[in-house]
Amino acid sequence: MASIELKNIVKKYGDGFAAVNDVSIDIADGEFVILVGPSGCGKSTLLRMIVGLEDITTGEMVIGGERVNDKAPRDRNLAMVFQNYALYPHLSVYENIAFPMRLGKNVDEEDLDRRVREASTTLDLDEHLERKPANLSGGQRQRVAMGRAIVRDAQAFLFDEPLSNLDAKLRGQMRTEISRLQKKLGITTVYVTHDQTEAMTLGDRVAVLKRGNLEQLATPRELYEQPVNLFVAGFIGSPPMNFMPANVNGDSLELPFVTVPLSPELAEKVKGNDILIAGVRPEHFEDSSLVDDDAKGVRFTAPVDVIEWMGNEQYAYLPFEAPREVADKLKELEADLDGESMRTQIVVSLDAASRVTSGEDAELFMQTDRMHLFVPETGDNLTREVETVQA
Ligand code: ATP
Repeated sequence: MASIELKNIVKKYGDGFAAVNDVSIDIADGEFVILVGPSGCGKSTLLRMIVGLEDITTGEMVIGGERVNDKAPRDRNLAMVFQNYALYPHLSVYENIAFPMRLGKNVDEEDLDRRVREASTTLDLDEHLERKPANLSGGQRQRVAMGRAIVRDAQAFLFDEPLSNLDAKLRGQMRTEISRLQKKLGITTVYVTHDQTEAMTLGDRVAVLKRGNLEQLATPRELYEQPVNLFVAGFIGSPPMNFMPANVNGDSLELPFVTVPLSPELAEKVKGNDILIAGVRPEHFEDSSLVDDDAKGVRFTAPVDVIEWMGNEQYAYLPFEAPREVADKLKELEADLDGESMRTQIVVSLDAASRVTSGEDAELFMQTDRMHLFVPETGDNLTREVETVQA
């Protein structure tokens, strides 16, 4: 097992395009780090540079304290688990797991047998050892692929979207299994995905990438509660964070349905901005009648046009129109919003007990201390670690 340090890693392809742009990440021995981001953000390229399948343009890759930039993949002793598992269809589960050991010289059959059986017990594959991959479920195949990595005593596991071709239920099960196994083995793991649920549930820390840049590297909780910018805020969370135009008016903030008083500290921070983008997650709204009188926040009335009943909660959709001048200004800035274009509805998550109905006005509550404020031009979050509302 080993630590993995990425130091100012840059990857430029032939045409000069920077697929990875000065990324630095320190992965501790035994840590589970996720690389996540939309298609084309450079996450697979980063993983391939760790494993040695892709040259590094500039920067240093250090594994277990040793610089490996010029080392061939086979000399890095890392185990890569791919999307398609790359199992040999004509070999049994036993032989598939044993395969990497058989590639070595002077194979000690007894040692090999012991390691394969240990791995199969850990992975709950004992009763399938004689089967061929075609006769296994997707989850079992995944475990065989991990078995191959385990017998090698690899320094780290590298996963490239390993669950993307499984159905939703199995994906959920495998997520838990990978998490359990990684804890049990305590092996350094880097895992690439574009699925934010996997990112949030599996990793000790998550690296969010956008167009080759590292936007934020943090624990799942910090990413969710303290996103550095509009991109991270919009990318993490489902349904996503609501973004609303916010007109700054002295020490208060005018939102589509409600005016929010600002704390002196925040009023100071937002000074100099006319328009901001307010971000509030769906769960930080509630049916006003279900909220205590002393709850910290604001109450407001808004029309509800659609309700989605989920059983344990319900989503209410509140359409709104941004004031003309705000809409125009935000439109001008659209390019800077990175596809996070201003949505013209708010999605609120309400308790299943709420009796709010579609086609009518609803009395709602918004938890203002959970509100984020972003600068439209840069996307920066002004409210990280700041008390938002007047006490
Ligand atoms: P996905 O989720 O779609 O696999 P990704 O985040 O893994 O995306 P990468 O495969 O790392 O993205 O690619 C990052 C960027 O580098 C993309 O814009 C891609 O088009 C570009 N790229 C990848 N390989 C090459 C290559 N051989 N030559 C030129 N550009 C490349």
